[in-house]
Amino acid sequence: MKALISGGTRGIGLACCRLFCRMGYQVTALYSRDGEAADRARRELPGVRFLRADVSDEEAVKGVFSQTGTPDVLVNNAGIDLFAQVQDTRYSDWKRVMDVNAGGMFLLTKHAVPGMLSRGGAIVNVSSVWGVTGGSCESAYSASKGAMISFTRALARELAPAVRVNCIAPGAIDTDMNAGYALEERREIENRIPLGRFGTPDECAQAVYFLATASYVTGQVLGVDGGGI
Ligand code: NAP
Repeated sequence: MKALISGGTRGIGLACCRLFCRMGYQVTALYSRDGEAADRARRELPGVRFLRADVSDEEAVKGVFSQTGTPDVLVNNAGIDLFAQVQDTRYSDWKRVMDVNAGGMFLLTKHAVPGMLSRGGAIVNVSSVWGVTGGSCESAYSASKGAMISFTRALARELAPAVRVNCIAPGAIDTDMNAGYALEERREIENRIPLGRFGTPDECAQAVYFLATASYVTGQVLGVDGGGI
């Protein structure tokens, strides 16, 4: 069985690579920047094929599938965030967030689906709790994550029964994306979470793996958020 995981060099995507490897999948992971994170991931997981491809670049995405063929499981995890009030958000930043988060998911899915329809498969998208509730000062990011949820629900209907399509909506997870919080801000967030702490990338990977393998589940959005923020 083959898994293609975007954003596999850090955080939630790297945890997914570890878990799918452990479960016997042949894993290909995508990332966009060479550097320390990619080197570290390569050293840790020599069995994973790491390919540099910006998910918002259609030619790069086509190049991935010409090298890997059709996966059994596609995990659309690559994403970027953007903290800004709407009046301070440049249109170019809005477009970049949309292009990577929603556009990358669209392109990888579009080019995976022809093969998946004939062989069967599962797609798991990594959205966010902000895609469900909206996050203040993260309107572009929230909009991109909301798009992932609508896309998931629409495609689950369009591709059934051959391909299942589901989505996780993580809350605050301990990754590079949240490394910028001051201790006090972090405590304030933890106090709002019913389970009282940030989640781990491994806890998200468990949910991704569940949805990838749950044979009677499609079109669902699974919160992995400690009860909410
Ligand atoms: P992260 O630690 O910042 O890692 C992001 C990964 O995505 C990296 O491997 C990065 O590689 C890759 N990536 C970014 N842009 C890319 C592009 N254009 N093409 C290919 N790969 C790209 O992020 P994370 O916290 O694990 O988040 C993973 C996903 O979960 C994201 O979609 C994020 O929105 C979502 N999420 C995270 C949280 C959280 O609290 N952390 C909460 C809710 C949802 P490069 O650096 O090489 O590009």
